[in-house]
Amino acid sequence: MFRRVAIIGGGAAAATLLGELLERQPPQPLHLDWYAGATAAPGRGVAYGTRSDRHLLNVRAASMSMFAGKPRGFLDFLQRDDPAIAGTDFLPRRRYGDYLEAEIVRALEQGKAHGHDVNIIPFTVDALVPESDGVTLIHGEESHRADAAVLALGALPPQPLGGVNAASLESGRYVMDPWQLLADAANIHPPPRKVALIGLGLTAVDVLLELAAQWPQTEFTAISRHGLLPTAHLSRATAPTDDGAELIASMRDAPEIHRWLHLLREACAQETDWRPVIDSLRPHTSGLWHVLPLEQRARFLRHARWAWERMRHRMPPQVLDSITGLEQAGQLQRQRGRVQSVELVDDALQLTLNHAGETRTLQADLVIQTVGLDTDVRRTRHRLVRQLVTNAHIAADPLGLGVQADATGRLHHNGGSWQHLFAIGSLLRGTLWESTAMPEIRQQARNLADQLLGD
Ligand SMILES: Cc1cc2nc3c(=O)[nH]c(=O)nc-3n(C[C@H](O)[C@H](O)[C@H](O)COP(=O)(O)OP(=O)(O)OC[C@H]3O[C@@H](n4cnc5c(N)ncnc54)[C@H](O)[C@@H]3O)c2cc1C
Repeated sequence: MFRRVAIIGGGAAAATLLGELLERQPPQPLHLDWYAGATAAPGRGVAYGTRSDRHLLNVRAASMSMFAGKPRGFLDFLQRDDPAIAGTDFLPRRRYGDYLEAEIVRALEQGKAHGHDVNIIPFTVDALVPESDGVTLIHGEESHRADAAVLALGALPPQPLGGVNAASLESGRYVMDPWQLLADAANIHPPPRKVALIGLGLTAVDVLLELAAQWPQTEFTAISRHGLLPTAHLSRATAPTDDGAELIASMRDAPEIHRWLHLLREACAQETDWRPVIDSLRPHTSGLWHVLPLEQRARFLRHARWAWERMRHRMPPQVLDSITGLEQAGQLQRQRGRVQSVELVDDALQLTLNHAGETRTLQADLVIQTVGLDTDVRRTRHRLVRQLVTNAHIAADPLGLGVQADATGRLHHNGGSWQHLFAIGSLLRGTLWESTAMPEIRQQARNLADQLLGD
């Protein structure tokens, strides 16, 4: 058992691990240092820090418990205030943030009763040095020791797409962090007339809903390779007609992307709707990813990732209605194409798009990059991660999906694996593929707590 554990990161993954650890009663009390960063609300992180009721969870309430051992956790929290809320509802993410905060308070009380000592440190860890008997953590001029450390850093800061020139970045008209823009949008006067979004996933949908409400006269153009919106959940939850065991077994027997797509198409054709088939894979995704050889993983990323993300990460039906409403009102247009370049021309940005061999241009007063998570540790400006990679304390996943680790989150370095350095959440995508949403994170937190406490 590790007695002094450092958790680095201020989001839901860190909060969930904290809750798992403080719930237990190991033979000796724990000392936990939670480096939550400079945030007013530790635990909410990027996803649940929003105060907008337009931003809904994309997972039904019944599946959003923080803890693997308490599947009704979020629902019970909600129904205490409003018994009419159903497990199939899609609630505002703000409410999930409230739940996280309430669970952190409860965990701290419980931890105190169990004799654990918890220190919430409002600093960012700048560097970390793993040694044979523990780790040293450095923030500013200070350094602290721990027996073990867990990286719960979420996704890395976004990088500009290739082809965006320096003048565009310097102009302030090219936005890489859409969440910061949403926080500041009410103070932007006058609002931009034309806004272009690059990327059309769930982040783009969030940004569109919020900005279209705040800037009703603005015209939005959303660009993606296929110009398609994310798919939507059905209004009624459905269960698959079987448990998918046969499909999973066939996929395991033939770990080859072309074959898997064929099997999935066949399975979907036998159901009245494809969604239950995709959902039935969820508990098996990391196992399937594990059996997939590296060159097949690369093939998946090149050819099937886009379709998988679109079917797997769905929006609530009411969000689809709102986005369709924006299109019908003429406030939103979708365009197909790859962005080749973004340049500052006079006082606006000019995007050059290519689709099916044809090139065209588009002008916008503001361009927002909404291309999804960046977890490529090989080219990041995240200070701690850069230091860890530069010093070969951690190793990059060969496909740029995060760090090399085992399935329990134990981190690898070039010569083997660390006994006392772990990760949870998005950085584990190279090992687990699906590793960003709460249903995966809560299971990781539980397994990690077992490891740290030597259960
Ligand atoms: C907009 C959005 C909507 C989502 N909706 C859902 C949903 O409906 N359902 C679902 O299951 N999942 C959803 N997700 C997935 C979501 O990523 C997870 O549910 C969860 O929030 C991930 O938490 P995290 O702690 O891993 O990452 P984050 O929330 O990103 O938190 C990591 C935190 O660590 C901090 N940090 C980074 N480096 C350091 C350092 N060196 N020192 C200290 N702190 C540091 C960061 O600043 C950040 O605050 C959504 C994600 C986003 C972005």
